[in-house]
Amino acid sequence: MHRVTRPVVYFLLSIILFCSPDLAFSQVRPNLGNSTRLMNSALAEMEKGNFEKANSYFRQIIENGLAIPPEMPYFFAETLFELGQYDNSAAFLNKYLEINGFRGDNYEKAKNLEAVLQSHLAAIAECRLCDRRGYRYEYCPTCHGDRQIQQTCSLCRQIGMVGCNKCMGTGIVKVRNIFNIVEYHDCDKCEGKGKVTCPKCEGTLTEKSDCRTCKGEGRLVTEELCNHQPSNNPRYFNGFEKLRNSLHP
Ligand SMILES: [Zn+2]
Ligand SMILES: [Zn+2]
Ligand SMILES: [Zn+2]
Ligand SMILES: [Zn+2]
Repeated sequence: MHRVTRPVVYFLLSIILFCSPDLAFSQVRPNLGNSTRLMNSALAEMEKGNFEKANSYFRQIIENGLAIPPEMPYFFAETLFELGQYDNSAAFLNKYLEINGFRGDNYEKAKNLEAVLQSHLAAIAECRLCDRRGYRYEYCPTCHGDRQIQQTCSLCRQIGMVGCNKCMGTGIVKVRNIFNIVEYHDCDKCEGKGKVTCPKCEGTLTEKSDCRTCKGEGRLVTEELCNHQPSNNPRYFNGFEKLRNSLHP
């Protein structure tokens, strides 16, 4: 019975882990030998408290498309937890519980980890200094949190003029007189020039609009895990105070 179901479990795990948005996978190449060796190396590192090293062994299993041992998602989640990647940890823990249910060898431990994760996930959800995965925001280096800045006009490409839409840039409009004869006149909108002052920048060549670096968010996500405390580093985003001030001086 066990011999029949195990490969199926391996296969399912591979497929499900394959769909993880956080990791890029190549083709599944079942290779139990390598995968067992890496798993054992990872477990040995975990024993020693080297969670980063252990995590990298697990990643090798995933990234090389090796067969994924059924208990691996749990241990992988544990290393992610130790590394402070709570969102990712929860994702793999959920997969582990989904696949193994209460029959998993580490079911109890998994449920404990799930409970411990809750407070960390809640702290991330409440924090305004980090994104939903718990990575700290920094002020956008282009607009410094102002969201809207003076930048080159997006309509006229720094020419200050755009083609007249009444005469289609020809400077001439056709009019039929009362005898139904076509008359040609200089376009009154552009005074026959075919071009008008750019309506967006009024000829100043710049416009105040959403910063293109941060798409008007005023902040960008860093690679730094957040401790949900304001930072002394002026680079890091410290709430909306600065943004509010800049929008309403
Ligand atoms: Zn910006
Ligand atoms: Zn015109
Ligand atoms: Zn313009
Ligand atoms: Zn935070």
